[in-house]
Amino acid sequence: MLENKAWAQEMVEDDPDYFNRLAKLQTPDFLWIGCSDSRVPANEITGTQPGEIFVHRNIANLVIHTDVNLLSVLDYAVNHLKVNHVIVCGHYGCGGVKASMTNHDFNHLLNMWLRNIKDVYRLYQSELETIADEEARADRLVELNVKEQVMKLAKTSIIQRAWQNRNSPVLHGWVYGLKDGIIKNLFDMNPGSEMDNIYKYDDL
Ligand SMILES: [Zn+2]
Repeated sequence: MLENKAWAQEMVEDDPDYFNRLAKLQTPDFLWIGCSDSRVPANEITGTQPGEIFVHRNIANLVIHTDVNLLSVLDYAVNHLKVNHVIVCGHYGCGGVKASMTNHDFNHLLNMWLRNIKDVYRLYQSELETIADEEARADRLVELNVKEQVMKLAKTSIIQRAWQNRNSPVLHGWVYGLKDGIIKNLFDMNPGSEMDNIYKYDDL
């Protein structure tokens, strides 16, 4: 609490109108879907301020089509805030991704969550199993997981309708390096990007 008071005072000293302006309006242009890991806070690592990024975080930055929480955030960000960029940001050394590569029983709920990453592993099994080093294999799965989650965003009617109606948002797949603080842009999907036909809605 003391840290909060000091922070609030510092912000007002720098910019007396700071909180008045923020309280009136949020117009972020970015939705961030990131990992819950405490070392990957969206604002700090992107050097942005409160008000600039709308944030959703869960273990291993997953986009799950039955996740009402994530879909509500996506719907609000895309259709009400009208963000022009949706970022899925994973990170090297992700504990969720590493856990999914073990055969350990984490009990029902976590098993259910991690199953989604195991499914990504299975999709890319032949590539992943050519990587002998365990850490390097986990880091490659982090990248492939990000790519799959971006593609899952494109499969939602929320994104497809926005692409059709306003030619936005662009979807981005990023990976953050815990060891160097650097974000790598892995994969983008522009409005109208191709995808497997079975996932396309033709009567939006
Ligand atoms: Zn993580």
